[in-house]
Amino acid sequence: MLGILAACVAQKNPYTATNRAYKTQVKAYAKALRATPPPMQGADSLLMGKYWVGTTNFNLRKPNYVVIHHTAQDSTAQTLRTFTLPSTQVSAHYVIGRDGRVYHMLNDYLRAWHGGLAKWGNNTDLNSCSIGIELDNNGTESFDEPQIASLLQVLARLKKAYNVPAANFIGHADIAPSRKNDPSALFPWKRLAGAGFGLWYDAGPLPNPFGPDSAAALASRLLAPKPTATEEIPPTDNQTDTTLLDRQLARINGPITPFNQREALRIIGYDTRDLPAAIRAFKLHFIQQNVAAPLSEADNRILYNLYKKCL
Ligand SMILES: [Zn+2]
Repeated sequence: MLGILAACVAQKNPYTATNRAYKTQVKAYAKALRATPPPMQGADSLLMGKYWVGTTNFNLRKPNYVVIHHTAQDSTAQTLRTFTLPSTQVSAHYVIGRDGRVYHMLNDYLRAWHGGLAKWGNNTDLNSCSIGIELDNNGTESFDEPQIASLLQVLARLKKAYNVPAANFIGHADIAPSRKNDPSALFPWKRLAGAGFGLWYDAGPLPNPFGPDSAAALASRLLAPKPTATEEIPPTDNQTDTTLLDRQLARINGPITPFNQREALRIIGYDTRDLPAAIRAFKLHFIQQNVAAPLSEADNRILYNLYKKCL
């Protein structure tokens, strides 16, 4: 008898109480949504005038970004516990275990607390428009195949259901470069991009934005002051020289502005107020080695290639 009782206790769902708390919170939001006219409730719905006429044509807002994280914890159970303790104030829509098991923790229409203070492009409230996915991984280990296989399935369903653009599959470090470093450099971003989730650069050889044939170099030669007579430079036909440069410039696709790392990172989406942090986040995602080092010539070629895709 005692043995049966012990088995029943062991099988009891440890999340019965927190599942009840979830329903209570959803009910409160449903009640607020049902009220007409909408009550003044902070920023949830601002009553802008005294006339209320409910429209008949609407639905729920959809997520347009997917932000991928690693949990930096040792087990899925630990993460599920973290996300069901009110004191932690963190959550995600999905948690995916090393074994590929997918835990859905929040309706996709609702706002999870996974991004924190973050910025991507001009978007400063990523939590409001994104799905957060946490991968059970301590941050220093590789990602297991069953986990990545499940992730790809979840991403495919999200992309189709909400029409998420390929470029909008990003990492936590991308949107919070000065605070976060997840997912780690071991995360297979290239494989994801190949499946349609996230950007990747073209196969080489890629043009060097600082090379002698770059748009920046040609523009600076074109705009350089003409040599003065005292500089003992053999006289040239400036008209011919300029025409040649014009032809060279015409062959180049893209802007004739000097390549600038900060601008390129900003156009891709990075918050460049802390430039070293933005460079680190870019390297974590696209270079995945020597993340702390400055951009090398090869890195600059990749940055330039990605930047041009985003123009
Ligand atoms: Zn994260």
